[in-house]
Amino acid sequence: MQILNRVPKSVKIKEIIVENDMVKTFVVDFSLGARPGQFVMLWIPRLDEKPISVAMDNGSEMHFTVAAVGPFSNAMHELSVGDFVGVRGPFGTEFECDEGAHIALLAGGYGAAPLYFFAHEAVKKGAKVEFIVGARSADLVLYEERISALDCATVHVSTDDGSKGHHGYNTQVLQELLDAGGIEAVYAVGPEIMMLKGAEAAEAAGAKAFVSVERYMKCGFGVCGNCVVDGTGDPVCLKGPVMPWEEVKKIEDFGKYHRDEFGKKHNF
Ligand SMILES: Cc1cc2nc3c(=O)[nH]c(=O)nc-3n(C[C@H](O)[C@H](O)[C@H](O)COP(=O)(O)OP(=O)(O)OC[C@H]3O[C@@H](n4cnc5c(N)ncnc54)[C@H](O)[C@@H]3O)c2cc1C
Repeated sequence: MQILNRVPKSVKIKEIIVENDMVKTFVVDFSLGARPGQFVMLWIPRLDEKPISVAMDNGSEMHFTVAAVGPFSNAMHELSVGDFVGVRGPFGTEFECDEGAHIALLAGGYGAAPLYFFAHEAVKKGAKVEFIVGARSADLVLYEERISALDCATVHVSTDDGSKGHHGYNTQVLQELLDAGGIEAVYAVGPEIMMLKGAEAAEAAGAKAFVSVERYMKCGFGVCGNCVVDGTGDPVCLKGPVMPWEEVKKIEDFGKYHRDEFGKKHNF
């Protein structure tokens, strides 16, 4: 059991990439040897500590892609190059694929970031990657250029308003790829309803499915119990966030509701 990963390390921000009006990527000169799908707890002293997916860990630097949605993430967006953040982890399970597999990655919102890290590793194993990235509009599509630059990865963009790529949901693009045949597994990170639809489509087509389940996390290593889900009683920070669809189907709240920091239910 790792103990040291539970203690935050103070790391300096060496670069900030502005992805769009809502999203920034923070690069730190530091590695935790994290794997795709895993997350860290990022800490801003005197404010809060929050779970954020690892968008890249290449052994010398790490990337974190953060959408500004509230007090913590807005404070992250106020940070500058040279400022320090606390990082502890890595925590949770990872995405994996077979050598040479033909896989589809279904990304919504900042889900493109951890799935890019996974695609980066999967192509090293000879995987053929169909990367389906969806957003409300063209200006919100994340990581398109980085994904396109990967050998053996094809990007499929969809936008709700039709301003780029397929006009509609990214799950419709996934369905077309599944109908064409050959996809062995689907990996989804994004809004829960998108992951639910994507996993159901994969199952119907006879493909494996893996989704990244997000629940309110405080400790990150299974002690506080805040991210325990109904049905299985599993803490998502330990058993997830990446889980096979067979396990996710047993979670009663998946696609229906989640709990806040006090355990109160909120419908999606
Ligand atoms: C495993 C995991 C990986 C994540 N990866 C990313 C990522 O790569 N990029 C990114 O921008 N966001 C990520 N998030 C979500 C991120 O943790 C929340 O958006 C962030 O904590 C919001 O905090 P806030 O103070 O800015 O906003 P708030 O207004 O406090 O929260 C906005 C919403 O974020 C969610 N949230 C808040 N606190 C937590 C928490 N402690 N744990 C889980 N969800 C919370 C709630 O649904 C809440 O309604 C991830 C969450 C989890 C569980």
